Amino acid sequence: MTLDVCEIFYGIQGESTYQGMPCVFVRLSGCNLRCRWCDTHYAYGKGLTMSIQEIVNKAGDFGCPIVEITGGEPLLQAQTPALVNALLDIGLLVLVETNGSMDISRVDSRCIRIVDIKCPSSGMADHNDFNNFARMTKNDELKFVIADRQDYEFARQRVRLLEFEGYGINAIHFSPVFGELDPKTLAEWILQDRLEVRMHLQIHKVIWDKDARGV
Ligand code: SF4
Repeated sequence: MTLDVCEIFYGIQGESTYQGMPCVFVRLSGCNLRCRWCDTHYAYGKGLTMSIQEIVNKAGDFGCPIVEITGGEPLLQAQTPALVNALLDIGLLVLVETNGSMDISRVDSRCIRIVDIKCPSSGMADHNDFNNFARMTKNDELKFVIADRQDYEFARQRVRLLEFEGYGINAIHFSPVFGELDPKTLAEWILQDRLEVRMHLQIHKVIWDKDARGV
């Protein structure tokens, strides 16, 4: 059982309720989307073929209790559910960050699924699988990456719909596209509307160079 891996590295978690915590990242190769502002083009290719045991060993070498499987799009690969289970079975806290276009129930709900909802400016909003809302548990988190006012209004409408329908999601995150939307502007919009969302920045881009890899 193998997967195509772009990179495995130790960094600071930047885009969930675990923001700021040290985390091992397993970035899987391949993506079915092409977001306009994508910062991980280098993950589109095939990557290095590794067995599940090799990935688990390498992730375990860092001695960190939190592992995030990301991409690219991690749910594209057939063996991702087996990798998630292997990491859970050795007692790690497993985060899976997905682009929201695929069925999240493919991976064990003991992991924490961080599900992107693509806003209009990404160019990929037609690919959102909104059936995922009903598949999410109280463990899971939603994330909107926002570039402009149109994106904000799209996200706000979804948040209000989710509140109305009473889905049990752990947290909803709003994040400005780095270099496109001033964080202060997004903060003011959230406060004006009294939205119960968490705003955050892509912390790795604040700490390190915005184009740096493996951080
Ligand atoms: S889903 Fe993620 S990796 Fe894929 S194109 Fe969009 S931002 Fe890039």
